[in-house]
Amino acid sequence: MSYVDEVFEALKKKHAGEDEFLEAAERVIETIKPAVEANEEAYRKAALLERLVEPERIITFRVPWTDDSGKNHVNLGYRVQFNSAIGPYKGGLRFHPSVNQSILKFLGFEQIFKNSLTGLPIGGGKGGSDFDPKGKSDAEVMRFCQSFMTELFKYIGADEDVPAGDIGVGGREVGYMYGQYKRITGLYEGVLTGKGLSFGGSLARPEATGYGLVYITDEMVRNAGKSLKDATVVISGSGNVAQYATQKAEQLGAKVVTLSDSNGYIYDPDGIKLDVVFEIKNVKRGRIKEYVEKVPTAKYFEGERPWGVKCDIALPCATQNEINGEDAKKLIENGCWAVAEGANMPSDADAIDAYLKAKILYMPGKAANAGGVATSALEMSQNSERLSWTFEEVDGKLKDIMVGIYHKVAEAAKKYSYETDFVTGANIAGFEKVADAMMAQGMV
Ligand code: NDP
Repeated sequence: MSYVDEVFEALKKKHAGEDEFLEAAERVIETIKPAVEANEEAYRKAALLERLVEPERIITFRVPWTDDSGKNHVNLGYRVQFNSAIGPYKGGLRFHPSVNQSILKFLGFEQIFKNSLTGLPIGGGKGGSDFDPKGKSDAEVMRFCQSFMTELFKYIGADEDVPAGDIGVGGREVGYMYGQYKRITGLYEGVLTGKGLSFGGSLARPEATGYGLVYITDEMVRNAGKSLKDATVVISGSGNVAQYATQKAEQLGAKVVTLSDSNGYIYDPDGIKLDVVFEIKNVKRGRIKEYVEKVPTAKYFEGERPWGVKCDIALPCATQNEINGEDAKKLIENGCWAVAEGANMPSDADAIDAYLKAKILYMPGKAANAGGVATSALEMSQNSERLSWTFEEVDGKLKDIMVGIYHKVAEAAKKYSYETDFVTGANIAGFEKVADAMMAQGMV
């Protein structure tokens, strides 16, 4: 049995029941096999893979809080500090009822490789709680965040572990947690990212994931001798990532013809008018179908996803598993020649197989949406320097990082003769840097 298979078999026995984590671990370690086999003896001796698949530590704690009616509740809080070989742990906090240890281990494991790809000194981590912020008052969310941080503060710090937002944790929650951290420790330091601009947040952070997605897409298509200019682009979602991906794609001369939400999608053959979307989604907090009231030449398709629309490029920016094998086939049959993922894991395994088989350009989310965490790391740099960079400075660095990620991924794929298989390229490129650092730091 190969070293990779041996480690995975042992992992399955040790963590039976952690389905999400085991699936993520299998997908990654299968694809890094060529890089492991090239150094198998040294890695085996150093128990490198056995260490890579186990978090350095997992902190679990109770989070007691009181609702507005005086009723007491207890949620579970977690921080998975997965790997600090190349920098302090970095990764979001998720507040959602589905949160459990397996999901956070899966997300933390993925984060190690995504963060490594950015080229910045950040390790991998993830955390959160099974608390559901939906339907809670501001005061309840604040009390919960304060209670959560009253425990978490012991384990994080600007040079130790720097959490950020994720599902259910936006600017409001980061603000409340930052306030409590400062109150308890007396430290004004960059311990969280995604902060408000008035207390250490970074310009261009809201734009970063969507812009970064389009920067890497642009580099990928240019290297294939194609162009974003005049390309027809289909985008799903209409939240933060989708909006800024639309903006940057339009700036680079592409025509974005769809956006969606969980109820349906809009099709505008003349190109999405983003000012209308900003008004509906960010000011009125409405639904995407309202777009057709303002732009009567557009159409709304209730209960459908946009993957049947003819396009050159697809940028899924909504949620996990939103493109299945059938959707991918439709895209390919309609002439789509590139897919890049703004969302985390939007394509299921069948869809990825279909892209690779058809040899269309495909950049997985781990590389394509790394602009968000990269800009969070730029926020950490600004906090350490006690400086605020201009929008243009941050955006320029973001662009360089995304172009750099494309080349790292493409070169790693090529080095192991996987040519345009950027899934393998992204995993290997992310792995090699972490592996080098772990080997150099000895048996820790
Ligand atoms: P938002 O909450 O701002 O927007 C999410 C969008 O996706 C909304 O339009 C939402 O519609 C839609 N959506 C959610 N669930 C579904 C569903 N089941 N079917 C169809 N549409 C759905 O999130 P973000 O834009 O920040 O994040 C989008 C994706 O990008 C997520 O996968 C996230 O993990 C990933 N990501 C985000 C980063 C960031 O910096 N924001 C960084 C890296 C990855 P509705 O309003 O109906 O719920």
